[in-house]
Amino acid sequence: MTSGSNSLMWFRKGLRIHDNPALEYAAKNSNHVYPVFVIDPHYMKPDPNSFSPGSNLAGLNRIRFLLESLVDLDSGLKKLGSRLLVLHGEPSDVVIRCLKEWDIKRLCFEYDTEPYYQALDTKVKNYALENGIEVFSPVTHTLFNPVEVIEKNGGKPPLSYQSFLKLAGEPHWSISSPPSTIPPIGDLGNCEVSEVPTVEQLGYQDFQEEDPDPPLFKGGESEALRRLQESTNNKEWVAKFEKPKGDPSAFIRPSTTMLSPYLKFGCLSTRYFYQRVKEVQQEVKNHTSPPVSLIGQLLWRDFFYTVGFGTPNFDRMRGNTICKQIPWNDDDELLAAWRDARTGFPWIDAIMVQLRKWGWIHHLARHSVACFLTRGDLFVHWEKGRDVFERLLIDSDWAINNGNWLWLSCSSFFYQYNRIYSPISFGKKYDPTGAYIRHFLPVLKDMPKEYIYEPWKAPLSVQTKAKCIIGKDYPKPVICHDDAIKECKRRLAAAYELNKKTNGVVSDEDMKKLR
Ligand code: FAD
Repeated sequence: MTSGSNSLMWFRKGLRIHDNPALEYAAKNSNHVYPVFVIDPHYMKPDPNSFSPGSNLAGLNRIRFLLESLVDLDSGLKKLGSRLLVLHGEPSDVVIRCLKEWDIKRLCFEYDTEPYYQALDTKVKNYALENGIEVFSPVTHTLFNPVEVIEKNGGKPPLSYQSFLKLAGEPHWSISSPPSTIPPIGDLGNCEVSEVPTVEQLGYQDFQEEDPDPPLFKGGESEALRRLQESTNNKEWVAKFEKPKGDPSAFIRPSTTMLSPYLKFGCLSTRYFYQRVKEVQQEVKNHTSPPVSLIGQLLWRDFFYTVGFGTPNFDRMRGNTICKQIPWNDDDELLAAWRDARTGFPWIDAIMVQLRKWGWIHHLARHSVACFLTRGDLFVHWEKGRDVFERLLIDSDWAINNGNWLWLSCSSFFYQYNRIYSPISFGKKYDPTGAYIRHFLPVLKDMPKEYIYEPWKAPLSVQTKAKCIIGKDYPKPVICHDDAIKECKRRLAAAYELNKKTNGVVSDEDMKKLR
């Protein structure tokens, strides 16, 4: 690399200054550094006919979070003598145009394992290679390099968490130091750059004012570091963190870190998070261990990244060799009832309202609604539920979302389809009075606690007194849970049998017979 040339720092995820080796490298020995973010129409296109504001791929909460993160990144860069250049268009075309226009000699960006980014990156890297541009693309979104873990396993991704842990071992990196200054931006030529747009400028309407719950998350690195500090200040809590023991109904003070949106966009470095937790663990006497500890959670994240990277068609059932072939129902009405919080099961509907409003729900709440939609009750395809999560979650993450839907639907990783989350008793265990339901479904706020999880059982006089008539003010249950679980188990048993007989190669004809 010749000293004194122009570098382009392409931000996609990794929206941070701390622990950002790509930015550190770009800032070294360059005359000019162009920090770029490209607003990609693939994610942004708003769909006015959609069931809630925003595009089909990214809902309002996520876009708002992203734009806040970009504003924060811009202000971080300004403190170092630079700023964020925002461009619009198909990212690989835009970046190639910038490489030409700005006479870039060095292109830096964080490596991304997602198939969508892999395709973009191949196009850009090929151009760079043909034109003598150096590419620096470190693996910093995860703790481990999925390529290395897969290589150690003979070219195949490990399919269990324990085997992943054995292969991965201890991470071997050190946190990158933030640059003290960033070389100035050079001439912008004919590339149209803008400030960070607002949600309205992207065609989204901000419905925030109509919503009584203020947004729970403020995007950006500053907020991510503040929240990490807050969580790790409570050393006992960090040390004793035990995931399955968290309360999914805790909404005033949720029982986990709520850092997932920051990890998704890389406002928080997962490596820095890991290091901070390790430091806390060294300071306390006893701490929990993977899979349940906080470190264990970060390792789950890496596990799904590794399997997702090494498995062709990981995000679908057909053509995915690790996914059981199951003849799911194609029932758009049941899907819509679930998505729009109209199943008539208050525990499920309250979770779906929280998801829509907050863009985040607790892990066990995700378990409840994913199990209900698929193998527990409605027998709707996991891909449809995955799409709804993808759109509504701020932390929506290709590898983790697909991995967990495969798990919850008993399509991969977990196969005990007889173990079902009850849409009635599971939530009651944590929240017997139904405070969570009353908060997210105010129509049920006066329903006595005896009926809050099963309001259809309340006598008409009770419903009248609670000002909530079932079937009029709040829906009747879309299915009978006891019948549904029997039917789901029967169909899963038949599907598993067929998968066994055919070694997972199930024809369309056989699938039809199972329906
Ligand atoms: P904490 O418990 O504080 O954990 C810290 C971090 O560890 C999380 O931020 C996350 O990055 C990681 N982590 C925790 N649990 C898991 C897990 N089971 N798998 C992988 N990583 C994990 N998480 C996402 O980040 N994006 C998704 O799109 C997503 N989709 C999911 C879909 C379903 C059906 C289910 C059951 C879970 C999904 N999860 C997803 C995993 C998990 O529910 C969230 O990561 C977690 O609830 C986020 O809250 P937190 O940051 O407070 O987690």
